Amino acid sequence: MANTLFHKVWNAHTVRRLSTGQTQLFVGLHLIHEVTSPQAFDMLRQHGWRVAYPDRTFATVDHIVPTKSQRRPFLDVMAEEMTASLERNCREFGIPFWPPDHENQGIVHVIGPELGLTQPGMTIACGDSHTSTHGAFGAIAFGIGTSQVRDVLASQCLALDPLKVRRIDVTGALKPGVYAKDVILTIIRRLGVQGGVGFAYEYGGSTIDRMSVEERMTICNMSIEGGARVGYVNPDAATFAFLRGRPFAPQGAAFDRAVAWWRSIASDPDAAYDDRVAIDAAAVEPTVTWGINPGQSVAVTERIEGDPRDEAFAFMGFAPGDHIAGTKIDVAFIGSCTNSRLSDLEEAARIVRGRRVAPHVKALIVPGSRSISRDAEARGLDRVFIEAGFEWRGAGCSMCLAMNPDRLEGRQICASSSNRNFKGRQGSPTGRTLLMSPAMVAAAAIAGEVVDVRTLLPEPVEV
Ligand code: SF4
Repeated sequence: MANTLFHKVWNAHTVRRLSTGQTQLFVGLHLIHEVTSPQAFDMLRQHGWRVAYPDRTFATVDHIVPTKSQRRPFLDVMAEEMTASLERNCREFGIPFWPPDHENQGIVHVIGPELGLTQPGMTIACGDSHTSTHGAFGAIAFGIGTSQVRDVLASQCLALDPLKVRRIDVTGALKPGVYAKDVILTIIRRLGVQGGVGFAYEYGGSTIDRMSVEERMTICNMSIEGGARVGYVNPDAATFAFLRGRPFAPQGAAFDRAVAWWRSIASDPDAAYDDRVAIDAAAVEPTVTWGINPGQSVAVTERIEGDPRDEAFAFMGFAPGDHIAGTKIDVAFIGSCTNSRLSDLEEAARIVRGRRVAPHVKALIVPGSRSISRDAEARGLDRVFIEAGFEWRGAGCSMCLAMNPDRLEGRQICASSSNRNFKGRQGSPTGRTLLMSPAMVAAAAIAGEVVDVRTLLPEPVEV
């Protein structure tokens, strides 16, 4: 019977149906980090339990690591203690751990794919909402809470409610200066931040087919911001090419056998969906959030619309009818598991090369992993950014959620390539976040205000 990837992977990992109506699902890969795992390990100790599958569990530090100097011990005593605690837990329970000075360290959703741990057809869990990122490879990947981290550590299983599947077809050519980030912001704006509740999002169509795996990761990463528990793209030649030769991917003949299986788990052409949505890629514009959730966005060419009583207006200091373009920024942040990959930095560098950051702007580039740092430095991208006035930082989550020294102050406005613009997300209770693509952040850093990136492309396009 024709089926979706979601159902094929779900069925293949089902241990049993529970009397609650939930499904007990086996988890192929469990990624852990320093923030949501300590209490889970404590609970294991209290019960005298071991980790069921330490060889399917991998740990890194990302949320709390400082990005200015990553020398141990960290100046922040709590950050140092959280890192040391994860180190101890991993040693005690036999889990591979990549500390801040290890070449594999980075944001958990960046290093999983780059090491080849993330593979098509897998079930993946991690104690972070943006675990949906891994769906870009045709995995179904769940962000989980601390008690579920405990469950997965102890049993390698999760009890989950079944999901419906919404197919989102994005078709047509994106215009120059329009990126995957604009596509996902447009989808969330259209379907709403609650629109995906109860759904898995399957992204497809000619635009997604043409996207690199890195761009697909940006799309899947923000599925959770649209309310969807998971988001995924069917695996294809681009997926297999990305994975070939990665350290944890199957090697040699095993890789070819894996590809045959990976192809088989893609959604069948005549699979039925619970809902379908069509998005015209040619109509997508460079997009910027103006409010306090990722669905409150406008094209950079548009005026802001909405009910003036919405608290987002008072918090952000906008009024209906305002243009988002021309909004002065204080901070520019390029980083996070949404947009800190090499291709993001390359695209931002195209905008920045030969220009200077506006004098009043503090601008940060935070690569998603040490590997990305190395690759970017080998290409000279660090010099491009530093000469323009950006700070070139070490890998970590940084200002995405500011559980480290990278924070907004007071009412600062930040042009950010991250994924959440909630009140207080970037460290200051009154700080304001404008989400946009890395190229748009680069353009805002140069102009000192929100500006249409298309006016700064090496070959400017008519807007
Ligand atoms: S970059 Fe942000 S969203 Fe991504 S893992 Fe880190 S804190 Fe979570």
